[in-house]
Amino acid sequence: MNKISDIETIRSLFPALEQTVNSRKLVYLDNGATAQKPKQVIDMVNLMNSGVNGNIHRAVHELSSKTTELYEESREVTRKFMNAAQREEIIFTSGTTASINLVAVCYGGKHLKKGDSVLISEAEHHSNIVPWQMICQSKEANLRVIPVDENGHWRMDMLDNLLDSSVKIVSVSHISNVLGLINPVEELIFKAHAKGIPVLIDGAQSIVHIETDVRKLDCDFYVFSGHKLYGPTGTGVLYGKREILDSMPPWMGGGDMVDTVTLEKTTYAPLPLKFEAGTPNFIGAAAMAEAIRFVESIDRKLLDKMEQSIVDYMTEELLKIDGLRLYGRGDSRISLFSFTVNGAHPSDLAMIMDKMGVALRSGQMCAEPLMRRFGVEAMLRASFAAYNTIEEAEYFIASLKRAIKMLS
Ligand code: PLP
Repeated sequence: MNKISDIETIRSLFPALEQTVNSRKLVYLDNGATAQKPKQVIDMVNLMNSGVNGNIHRAVHELSSKTTELYEESREVTRKFMNAAQREEIIFTSGTTASINLVAVCYGGKHLKKGDSVLISEAEHHSNIVPWQMICQSKEANLRVIPVDENGHWRMDMLDNLLDSSVKIVSVSHISNVLGLINPVEELIFKAHAKGIPVLIDGAQSIVHIETDVRKLDCDFYVFSGHKLYGPTGTGVLYGKREILDSMPPWMGGGDMVDTVTLEKTTYAPLPLKFEAGTPNFIGAAAMAEAIRFVESIDRKLLDKMEQSIVDYMTEELLKIDGLRLYGRGDSRISLFSFTVNGAHPSDLAMIMDKMGVALRSGQMCAEPLMRRFGVEAMLRASFAAYNTIEEAEYFIASLKRAIKMLS
């Protein structure tokens, strides 16, 4: 099949991009928070809600067989997309947050003891901080942190000291939702493994911007959310190496995660169902497979070329603006930019730009420790997706300049 090789075709697949907001053509640059959905994702949700609907894994009737097939097919599509070795290694969750909580409770709960440590970085989303704080608190373990330097890079020079024998797991983002830098996760994984420590990679931002190969990375866990990957909300994935997932106790108890149940004792289903208690979001999972198929239908060269031209244009133009401070500086980055402007509050800028049709994120970005690191209370963020054009980047820069002028 021919791959999509132009951006107009990509845009034509997204009904949301046709709308006007505040009487202006929408320029949607809040993709780091959630992405818009292509037609094939919407169609799958509608098809299933309109009738291809029967609870999975449970009944012998036709509708249940169809939805079970779609659900398990999605697991296979996801497995291939991440290059996982086996379908048993793909656990469907409700998103990145749920996936990290699952690992914190099931892996951390089993392995952490008083005085042990969990290692994260200073640039994590709250979803990759709070679950670890909670399990550390209950186990009397410690949360250790890799600091970031002025440019937002991990202080790799401190890693050897931080990775001592008290560390039982490392959990870090592949790409921070604030800084947009591609972190040196390969080096971290290599160093952690040399000491027998497993590593979880939070791929919430990376999954949509760079190709993910969990076997090449050799990470022990990899997590992401469907909604940032053009899929539905309430969908997500926990990839885990089979032997580690096998060794972990289940998280939630309920239907589908059991083998046999008596009132005295329950034995659990094998992977992946062991971690999928209750009726899962099977419509969402089937639609997430469509999101992955959409991403795979685009020529990778087009995606990489667009990403680079937006990175080059945006970096150059942002840095020309007086009083603008860009957080996350370096060549290895994605088209996600967080910044502050002297004398202009991020929320005021975001509100003015909303009136111009530009949707941005402002605030603490669910990364309060990182805000504190840079001595600011809030930032403004523009984050691009496969359907965003250079013209939109130009409109964004022109609108930003106008908004700054209005506030000065
Ligand atoms: N981790 C990172 C790096 C993120 O960017 C986000 C969301 O913005 C999350 C975790 C949490 O994702 P979700 O809210 O979809 O569970």
